[in-house]
Amino acid sequence: MNELIDNPCQLEEIAAYLDGELNSHSLARFEQHVKHCSICAAELRAQRQLLCTLDVAFGGSGEFELPRDFARVVTASAENDLSMIRQRRERRRAFKLCVILGLISFGLLGAATRAIVFDPLRSLFRTARVLFDLLFQALSETVSAASVLIRMLAPTQPGLRLLLTLAFLVSLLALSLLIVKYRRAQIVE
Ligand SMILES: [Zn+2]
Repeated sequence: MNELIDNPCQLEEIAAYLDGELNSHSLARFEQHVKHCSICAAELRAQRQLLCTLDVAFGGSGEFELPRDFARVVTASAENDLSMIRQRRERRRAFKLCVILGLISFGLLGAATRAIVFDPLRSLFRTARVLFDLLFQALSETVSAASVLIRMLAPTQPGLRLLLTLAFLVSLLALSLLIVKYRRAQIVE
């Protein structure tokens, strides 16, 4: 018991002891104390156990021995995984390439379709509309002019009237054709 009176409990030294932070004098005194003090010995055991548990939990335990070919096995399996990943990645890359190529060809096809089908269609529609407008105008003018002419020519013989009307219609047709040609030349420009 004398030992314990000369060398009282210093619980804060337990952690320092476990961390190896005690100087030689403190270390000797602590070890001497623990031999006789059951409280400090129990505390030391508990803290040591806790440290052990933490060591195992964080994988730093020296008691756990790895298999001798552990590194080789790990390396081989990692290489295998890597090649699998590479294969998968290459497959995915190939698939992506296919999709991109498909999209590009689809886009090209779309552009080609537009250039080949829609643009001419549009210009065709535009031309048709202009032609239709012209034709309608020419027709209505022809009709009104013809009706005026027919009224004027009413008293003369039927054969001459018909001939005159025909000549008038032909000249009108020629005129409208000329107009159409002129307009078309304008559109093309
Ligand atoms: Zn003690």
